[in-house]
Amino acid sequence: MTVVSTRAIQVNTEIPGPKAREILARRDAAVVRGLGRATPVVAAHAHGALVTDVDGNTFIDLAGGIGVLAVGHTPGAVVDAIKKQAEELIHLCSLVGTTESYVQVCEMLNGLTPGDFPKKTILSNVGAEAVENAIRCARAYTGRPAIICFEGAYHGRTLLTMTLTSKYDLFKKGFGPFASDVYRLGFPYQYRRPSQMSEDEFTDWCITTFDNALVAQVDPSAVAAVIIEPMLGEGGFIPTPLRYMQHIAMRCQQHGMMLIADEIQTGFGRTGKMFAIEHYGVVPDMVVTAKSLGAGMPISAVTGRADVMDAPNPGGIGGTYGGNPLTCVAAIQTIQMLQEDKLVERADYLGQIMRERFEGWRDTIDLIGDVRGLGAMLAIELVLDRTTKTPAKDLTLAIIQEANRRGLIMIRAGLYSSCLRFLIPLVITDDQLHEALDVLEDVLLDIQKGR
Ligand code: PMP
Repeated sequence: MTVVSTRAIQVNTEIPGPKAREILARRDAAVVRGLGRATPVVAAHAHGALVTDVDGNTFIDLAGGIGVLAVGHTPGAVVDAIKKQAEELIHLCSLVGTTESYVQVCEMLNGLTPGDFPKKTILSNVGAEAVENAIRCARAYTGRPAIICFEGAYHGRTLLTMTLTSKYDLFKKGFGPFASDVYRLGFPYQYRRPSQMSEDEFTDWCITTFDNALVAQVDPSAVAAVIIEPMLGEGGFIPTPLRYMQHIAMRCQQHGMMLIADEIQTGFGRTGKMFAIEHYGVVPDMVVTAKSLGAGMPISAVTGRADVMDAPNPGGIGGTYGGNPLTCVAAIQTIQMLQEDKLVERADYLGQIMRERFEGWRDTIDLIGDVRGLGAMLAIELVLDRTTKTPAKDLTLAIIQEANRRGLIMIRAGLYSSCLRFLIPLVITDDQLHEALDVLEDVLLDIQKGR
């Protein structure tokens, strides 16, 4: 009698296995070391929340290509659309001619993003490029140079977006000089607030600091935009406190500073709303999207107030590949799938399961300092000591490596690289999620025992 395993994870070799090791050796010889890699997984194929490597091992993917795969790996409708499009037209260039799919993606984003006013969209290839475009529009519209951003932010790796990005050691060391006219303010990182302050007092203090900066650092009349991730992504999944976000929005409106919501990581349902900014009752002037918009195809966008988006002169914005037809048909199918399969609601449901289990682990796993996030976009911050809150950076890496050997794909986040972050495909089945969390729980218990 054959016993059919119901487990999704299949680890049959050591990780990495022999074929993976051979390819990784070639990678080390041929590819720059600056391109870090979180796991030794060498993938052969993937579907839904499962990734199979070149040695035939199957992993449950909790990283989703760093938040790209809300609709999972290789969804049928997206794959079919790409195949069909590839046979009909691969490239024309949106600066040369038009495809209907480009227009349709823009129409869909104009409709989906918050704000009851005329909107327009520009498509591009990656997140950083879209952030650059948003700032280009803000500067052209306001005629002002300065940008305000925050500690813990990640906006990309081009010169301007790297300047906007925080976490100097990992992302910026050796790469200066940076762009000018960028002002960075503190972010209300509640878990690490001064111990004598309540959450409310700390939020008040951050609000005061924001207002002071408009006197001490830069005059609002010189500020084109404030760019904010409604919940820090790379910074460790720290939701902006409601009152802080509302205060910034109020100041932006008062002074004519554009409010740019960078929804590149938070977007497309992951937080239990289509866009995380919807948790705040705030309507930004521009929303920047990428990642889960294209189910893995490189497409990004800025959607915003039509008058702001139309400020750059014709020819002042765009590029060779932005809104390539293959990426546009993928985005159309992705958005339809998010809506038809009710994946935004599913994010809330999955998030509740995860949060309940994480909270339950606190009793037995002292390493857990904080559990936070919105919807299914959750992180666990690990500490060596709950009183001193010393970040457990090395142990976080050890946990991710051991989890990988046992069949999970996971990544870290946070200013101190001490957060386990969950960017699960929203199509993960309940069984797969529980299986993954069982494995992770065992890893956490074992690592804790071995300290
Ligand atoms: N903004 C945010 C919030 C991001 O999370 C990222 C990518 N991690 C980016 C911008 C940059 O996107 P890309 O890597 O596609 O340039």
